[in-house]
Amino acid sequence: MLDDSTTPQRLYVDGYKLSDEMLSAGTLPQLGGARMCSVHAKGNCLDPIIASVTAGRRYRHVLGFEAGERARATKDAVFNTERRTGWYPLLEWGWDRTRCTDFIAEVTGRRWSKSACGFCPFAMATASGRHALVERYRREPHAGAQALFLEFVARSLNERQTLIAGGSAAELVDAAGLTEVQAHYEALLADKPHAVYEVRRLTRRSSKRTDGRGITARSVRAVAHGTREQMTRQLAAQPGDRHDGPDGITRHVLRARGTELPSLEHFYVVCPAVVEDKARPGFDEWWQEATSDAVLF
Ligand code: SF4
Repeated sequence: MLDDSTTPQRLYVDGYKLSDEMLSAGTLPQLGGARMCSVHAKGNCLDPIIASVTAGRRYRHVLGFEAGERARATKDAVFNTERRTGWYPLLEWGWDRTRCTDFIAEVTGRRWSKSACGFCPFAMATASGRHALVERYRREPHAGAQALFLEFVARSLNERQTLIAGGSAAELVDAAGLTEVQAHYEALLADKPHAVYEVRRLTRRSSKRTDGRGITARSVRAVAHGTREQMTRQLAAQPGDRHDGPDGITRHVLRARGTELPSLEHFYVVCPAVVEDKARPGFDEWWQEATSDAVLF
């Protein structure tokens, strides 16, 4: 954020960061549903500023959805109010990204690259997006390392959580031979205090359909803290069967994820100690209910 002036001199790099939120929750931006990452990282930060600048007056909120992004504009217009009117000039002009970057290049002499989090799963969802990201990681190995770090933390707690559906950012970096990114990532990992986490995950039966899936809830709790080496030794002393996953992560598994409902998963894993202990209210009762003999026969 630049300082509050028409001639800013300072850039404040601290404050809310989506990556911090993701790490403390041990999760990743979700491809499905509403883009909550964007709501948190942009909407929640901008809304108070807009409210302060417009001070109750009517205003147009200009958004740069490009030609071809009419659906995004339609979705955004749902948030119009008596005061706020979304305005999408690029759609009116028929300008797409290429037209915009050409214009910027004409005016400034520079070609502007797309701005996005370095760990954006939406940017990784297409071949051209992944190609652009690899080029970005080549220029900014720290951004690549951070993406790998986020993915590793989330994946440690849930083997299915990766930044690329059916693959992973780790595989992308590996295939592209980005050794500098991998070196930064290893250094980042080695530098962090670690913890042994106990992870329990539960998918309930739907309350509406007896054979349907209900809510999935997770409980994450650190049971020991120390260096990576200490925690690796500590994990060996935890109960459960040792399982070396295809993701290269070792877990001590008490209950493997099942397909029957309620579905339960319970394991210990070593992970950088960046994730906060968390369980949704009522989790322990649900867990007890689901693990009781009466339910499991
Ligand atoms: S750039 Fe991607 S990850 Fe970052 S807030 Fe936007 S949609 Fe979410």
